[in-house]
Amino acid sequence: MNSGSSILITGGAGFIGSHLLERLLQEHDVTVLDNFSSGKRENLAGCMGKANFRLMQADLLDPKGLDEAVAGKDMVFHLAANPDVRLGATNSSVHLRQNVIATHNLLEAMREAGVKKIAFTSTSTVYGEAKKIPTPEDYGPLLPISLYGASKLACEALISSYCHTFDMQSWIYRFANIVGERGSHGVLVDFIRKLRQNPAELEILGSGRQKKSYLEVKDCVQAMLLCLDCSDERVNVFNIGSEDSIDVTEIADIVVSQMGLKDVGYRYTGGEEGRGWKGDVRSMLLSLEKIKSLGWRPKWGSSQAIRSAVQALLRDKSA
Ligand code: NAD
Repeated sequence: MNSGSSILITGGAGFIGSHLLERLLQEHDVTVLDNFSSGKRENLAGCMGKANFRLMQADLLDPKGLDEAVAGKDMVFHLAANPDVRLGATNSSVHLRQNVIATHNLLEAMREAGVKKIAFTSTSTVYGEAKKIPTPEDYGPLLPISLYGASKLACEALISSYCHTFDMQSWIYRFANIVGERGSHGVLVDFIRKLRQNPAELEILGSGRQKKSYLEVKDCVQAMLLCLDCSDERVNVFNIGSEDSIDVTEIADIVVSQMGLKDVGYRYTGGEEGRGWKGDVRSMLLSLEKIKSLGWRPKWGSSQAIRSAVQALLRDKSA
């Protein structure tokens, strides 16, 4: 991306979006579009008042503001989504609306305005319960087990088809679990909240043996930008994660020890086949061979990423 580009970030007031924003503002003019459904103004505190930053409070489901948001942009980073995987089991339309329809609205606005480049935050959950671990980008068939995973796969398909039909170009990132400062959902936030309420006992969803890969958020942003600079296909798909995985009970041990707690009883909910919830993938580790061939390496493994994220989250008393 040329320095001084004009960029739109959807979901830029969220966890990952605000870190991406800070990095992009070092070189580019950036507009954030966010409806603040889970994003926070505090996440933008370091950017407010900068001459190359603009904030638009708008909703991707309301196409009116979208034309203005995409006008004149060189590139769109599309992060806005409902990222709560568990929600799909009790609300079967939220991911269709917030992820698929919202993405279609954005692509339409881009098509009409002639904006040609989009980077999209997809997820490891598109692989479903992969039989091959570490899972490479060309694994198939892609059979998600959550409505969230299905919605992200549908977004990937829409983006790919827009690229081929309307001469656009895309970078699709399939993230492992991303953790760090300003994280607002996921296992770390859940454990810290529960332990602040009751330091004697921790409820752990599932068997505690679900084993997944975790990456620190600034590392994630660096990987996203490197893919953009080093890969120039029409549709560029990259896994982004760490090189190892860690199970939920080990994560609980880290959180408990970093909170300085002792003798915490763990209460496992058990769940179907040890899953934390319907749609919970029990084992996730992404093959990083493709992104490593560009010269990127995660700076930390999963447990160090988690340690660092827990420290950051504990500093934030509102988390
Ligand atoms: P987040 O909830 O912090 O950020 C999402 C942002 O999008 C929020 O600021 C929210 O207010 C905004 N938003 C949601 N719906 C919107 C709409 N209709 N219009 C405008 N704004 C809207 O989540 P995050 O963890 O930062 O995730 C960012 C992206 O990365 C998401 O697409 C998510 O699915 C994806 N992802 C995240 C992880 C992870 O571990 N955090 C893993 C895989 C993929």
